[in-house]
Amino acid sequence: MAQAELAACPCGRADAKGRVLSYAGCCARFIAHFETTPAPDAEHLMRSRYSAFVLEDVAYLQATWHASQRPATLDFEPGVRWLGLSVKDFQVTREDRAEVEFVARYRVAGRAVRLHERSRFVREEGRWFYVDGDQF
Ligand SMILES: [Zn+2]
Repeated sequence: MAQAELAACPCGRADAKGRVLSYAGCCARFIAHFETTPAPDAEHLMRSRYSAFVLEDVAYLQATWHASQRPATLDFEPGVRWLGLSVKDFQVTREDRAEVEFVARYRVAGRAVRLHERSRFVREEGRWFYVDGDQF
């Protein structure tokens, strides 16, 4: 999927009037500029990582994965169609630690999958990283 074709951000974030933000006005700010524009909090990071999964942007996913947990390679299941993201909870648990609970839905091989996870994030030198999560 070409990023230029994305009118609506994959993460589905909406403005105050309920209109879904454009990709350029939402996660692209972080995905395309992660060296200079890190996500300001764990929810923005989580949303941008979801969008990066949709776009299969390995570089961004690895850059935002905490070094202690970062996989050497990433494989994407072929034929996955992402259906949407719903952020259920976002809490700063203590300084430089946060958790985000979300549901991501996708279809693959005619099967509907619902991924429900509470993810842990850590901030180091001003940048948030995904550490790991518990799936429900
Ligand atoms: Zn977004």
